[in-house]
Amino acid sequence: MTRRRPLAHALALRLAGTSALRGLERLGWNPLRAPGVESGRMGRMSEIDGMGTARATCLLAPNPSMMTLTGTNTWLVAEPGADEVVVVDPGPKDRVHLRRIMDAVRERGQRVGAVLLTHRHPDHSEGAGEFAAMAGVGVRAVDPAHRLGDEGLAEGDVVAVGGLELRVLAIPGHTDDSVAFWLPADGAVLTGDTVLGQGTPVLDGGLGDYLRTLDRLRALVADEGVGTLLPGHGPLLDDPAGVLDQYIAHRRERLAQVEAAVAAGATTAREVVEIVYRDVDRKLWPVAEWSVQAQLDYLAERG
Ligand SMILES: [Zn+2]
Repeated sequence: MTRRRPLAHALALRLAGTSALRGLERLGWNPLRAPGVESGRMGRMSEIDGMGTARATCLLAPNPSMMTLTGTNTWLVAEPGADEVVVVDPGPKDRVHLRRIMDAVRERGQRVGAVLLTHRHPDHSEGAGEFAAMAGVGVRAVDPAHRLGDEGLAEGDVVAVGGLELRVLAIPGHTDDSVAFWLPADGAVLTGDTVLGQGTPVLDGGLGDYLRTLDRLRALVADEGVGTLLPGHGPLLDDPAGVLDQYIAHRRERLAQVEAAVAAGATTAREVVEIVYRDVDRKLWPVAEWSVQAQLDYLAERG
């Protein structure tokens, strides 16, 4: 499954800045637009840097791209008046950004109590080791390869730092090691790349896992009064139920199209693409095929 990602990534990069992006969007795949290409909900960098809730503040990393939108959102999370802060996703190995996080912590009169990762992708994790070393703490991650020190992260963990409480939810799908951090005091959830501030993420994990994750987040929003999602890229989302309903509907709609193509006799991803995407630029068919194969795998698995 993971072998497909480099292909999709390479294609995405080749298509960056071309009108083919529109086609990608129609494929329901993932037109992560370069900043400024679209306005709408994309948000401006100046609006994203510094956004947040009473306890969570975003520091935007300077790594904008088609895959990272305006850049990676690093989150500082602390109880008001506390002397310790949690840093979520220090971001890429960019010394200016890492220093800026440290300066922000000091300006707040705080010290770093914990460094957490939402998932293993380098735009979130690559600078974590260096930052944690500066701060004199470890890195807590699901994937042992991304930890520093011996504290991991797992479903049900409660990260308690300086009176703050973050609850860890395993939410596989974008990657198999993705976690969310639920901040009950603010009715907010840090979603990493599982729910983005704009667009929908590439799946590097399984579609079945991802669909279960969306249902789980939707139930959490309904049952626990979650009013804000704090994503790993793009602006914060203040209508979690609406956004998750759209994500779920979008995935179901795509699956239904693939199922209908199979019922009409298509047996391979290519044949499904020829039916479902017949009016889409053929240049995009390889990307569509990659996405359809994931859906066929899911349908086969589901039986
Ligand atoms: Zn990311």
